[in-house]
Amino acid sequence: MHPIDLSGRNAVIFGVANDRSIAWAIARALAGAGARIALTYQNDRLHSRVARLADTLDDAVILPCDAADDAQIASVFEQLQAEMGSLSVLVHSIAFANREDLAGRLADTGRAGFRIALEISAFTLLPMVRCAAPLMAGAGGGSVIAMTFHAASRVYPGYNVMGTAKAALEQEVRQLAYEYGGDNIRVNAISAGPVDTLAARGISGFLDIRRTHAEKAPLGRNITADEVAQTALFLSSDLSSGVTGAVLPVDAGYHIMAV
Ligand code: NAD
Repeated sequence: MHPIDLSGRNAVIFGVANDRSIAWAIARALAGAGARIALTYQNDRLHSRVARLADTLDDAVILPCDAADDAQIASVFEQLQAEMGSLSVLVHSIAFANREDLAGRLADTGRAGFRIALEISAFTLLPMVRCAAPLMAGAGGGSVIAMTFHAASRVYPGYNVMGTAKAALEQEVRQLAYEYGGDNIRVNAISAGPVDTLAARGISGFLDIRRTHAEKAPLGRNITADEVAQTALFLSSDLSSGVTGAVLPVDAGYHIMAV
């Protein structure tokens, strides 16, 4: 038997773009432990790629969701209610900022760029949790996992407004953990070290960030998406039943270093 058994549980995962996505590593890990998986895809351009990945899982559900649209978020959970009945795990693994706002100075971010980064990367967790809560009640509780980065609290030149968005996201995790604790819904974030994905490649200086992490981290290397997924598996399972409102670093220890 798998050391963690999620059979009979349902998980929805937002944020698979391709097979390098952290969300995809999490989907595989949760499916490997027996969970039934629902994946969402952002738009038609990503549909066939995400559908091909979903086909490799057992009995997966796949639904469209542009998180810029509240109606599409609500529709995902209506369809999950019909298709799955209840929900135990929600993974928020989406982020967006305009490319020009991920280089140069934070001070040059315009109102529209600021708004879209915060809206997609931080706000969207709120309606997702609100819509998931009734389905999680049907499972006796649930686990919500969001993806964050060390730039929420430290300066990474180039990460700019996305650091602001991650700071907002981490505060939401704490506030939501408080608001939904009474429903036995746990809300946590994983602060992943740099992983080479589509989104990461959009950040100016990303390869330097990766190199610096590998040099300075106590473990002397970068982490993998699969290591993030193992922690997501722990947070999805009853092994973490006492953990909520936490930001768990999976970064080979980089965050403890000063020099
Ligand atoms: P990725 O490019 O594979 O995933 C980003 C996802 O966001 C994509 O699936 C994209 O479709 C989705 N997305 C963007 N705008 C959207 C919208 N309007 N509606 C719906 N979906 C939308 O990259 P990733 O690195 O796997 O990113 C996943 C999460 O992990 C993000 O929150 C990211 O900030 C976070 N993270 C990444 C790293 C890293 O180094 N890669 C480190 C720490 C945290």
